[in-house]
Amino acid sequence: MNRVSESLQPILEEVIRRNPAEAEFHQAVQEVLESLGPVVTRHPEYTDGEVIRRLCEPERQIIFRVPWTDDAGRVQLNRGFRVQFSSALGPFKGGLRFHPSVYLGIVKFLGFEQIFKNALTGLPIGGAKGGSDFDPKGRSDAEVMRFCQSFMTEMYRHIGEHTDVPAGDAGVGRREIGYLFGQYKRITDRYESGVLTGKGLTWGGSQVRTEATGYGTVFFVDEMLRHSGDSFEGKRVLVSGSGNVAIYAIEKVQELGGRVIACSDSDGFIVDEAGIDLDLIKEIKQERRGRISEYTDQRPGARFVAGEGIWDIPCDIALPCATQNELRGADATALLRGGCRIVAEGANMPTTPDAIRLLVDGGVRFAPGKAVNAGGVATSALEMQQNASRDSWAFDYTEERLAEIMRTLHDRCLETADEYGAPGDYVAGANIAGFTRVADAMLALGLV
Ligand code: GLU
Repeated sequence: MNRVSESLQPILEEVIRRNPAEAEFHQAVQEVLESLGPVVTRHPEYTDGEVIRRLCEPERQIIFRVPWTDDAGRVQLNRGFRVQFSSALGPFKGGLRFHPSVYLGIVKFLGFEQIFKNALTGLPIGGAKGGSDFDPKGRSDAEVMRFCQSFMTEMYRHIGEHTDVPAGDAGVGRREIGYLFGQYKRITDRYESGVLTGKGLTWGGSQVRTEATGYGTVFFVDEMLRHSGDSFEGKRVLVSGSGNVAIYAIEKVQELGGRVIACSDSDGFIVDEAGIDLDLIKEIKQERRGRISEYTDQRPGARFVAGEGIWDIPCDIALPCATQNELRGADATALLRGGCRIVAEGANMPTTPDAIRLLVDGGVRFAPGKAVNAGGVATSALEMQQNASRDSWAFDYTEERLAEIMRTLHDRCLETADEYGAPGDYVAGANIAGFTRVADAMLALGLV
C-alpha cells in the first residue's frame, strides 16, 4: 500500500487546512492521492493544469434550512446539503443520504468518491452528493413526505436533467424519491423524468435500479473469482447491512451458488449457518421496516448477536455493505484468521485505511467501493437514457447491460493497475482509471 507521494503531500495538507474537521473527506482524498504518484510523474500536464487541486474543490456547495412539521404539529428543523463536485464528464450525479450522521464532511467524502466512481462506469455523468441529518427511523409516511417536500422546495432550483440528477442513498429509497419528484413536478410544472433516478417503475423508473448496487457488487466479485478460475459455488459469504445494497447482494450471491451466512443492522447481526432466508429478511426490512433481531423469531436455528463482531465469523468472501468505516483493523485481523480471501466494498468507504493495509499484506484480494458498487449509479445512467428517449427497457436487457458495465469496469481497473506497475491492485487501478478520465476532460474543457 502506497503513501501519498512527496509531490502530492502539499495538496493533501491544503485540503485538510481548507476543510477543517471533515475527517471522512480527508480520508477519501488521501486514499485517492495515495494512488496518483505515478500518474503525475507520467503526466506533467495534470500538475501544470492544477487538475488535482481543482478536483478537491467542489464546483458548488449548497447548505440549506429544512423546516417541517411532525405529526404532533411541532416544528422540526434539519439541515440539507447538495455538494456538486465535478461536472466535467456530464451533469452532476449522485445520491441523497438521510441519516443523523450526515454533515458536510460526509457529503463531501461521498461526493468526492462519486466523481471517480461515475467516471469508472464509462458513462457521461459528473459527481455530486447530498442529503440531510434527518432521521427517517420511526417517522410516519406523512412526516417523511413533509420533510421531502420541504427539502425539495429549496433543492429544486439547483437541479435539472442537464444540471444535476440526484438519486437515493442510505435512508432514501423509492418512497422518498417519489415525494421528492412529486414536489419538483409541482413547483416547476414539468414532468421532467430525468431530474431524479431511482423512480418507481410506473413513473419513469428503470428495471433493475433497485437491485443494481447489490447485483453489481456481486457481478464485480464474480469477475474477480473468474480471473482466478474460481466461482461463487459453495463459498461462505458475510454481508454486513440489510438495506438495499445488502439485500440484493445476498440475492445474487445465492443465485450464483454462494452461501450467505450472516447479515446485520445497526443493532447487531444474525448468523444462519443454513444460509440466510432472504424472503424473511425482505419481509422484516422492506415490508415492516423492522429490526434484524426479529429474524430469529421465525428461524430457530439462527442466532442474533447484539453489537459488532460480524467479521469474526469464518468466511471465504466478505462484502461490507452497511456504512463508512465499519470494517476496522481488528476486524481485518479477524477476517484473516477466519480464512477470508476476498473483501469487496458494497458500501462507500466501509474499510478503514489500516484495515485495508492489513488485508492486503495478509494476501486478501481487496476491491474498493468506487469500483465495486458502481452498478447502482451506472443503472441510474441507464435510467437517464431511458428517460431521454421516453423508453423503458425489459428487466433482462437492463440486467445484461449492468453485467456488461461491471465486467468492463473490472477489466479497466486491472488493465490500469498493470499499466502503472501495480498488477492486481484494484485500489490503484480504480483510482487511476477514474482520475485520468476526469482529468483529461478537465484539461479539454479549459480553466472552468
Ligand atoms: N448513492 C449511490 C452511490 O453511492 C447511487 C447514486 C446514483 O444513483 O446517482 O453510488
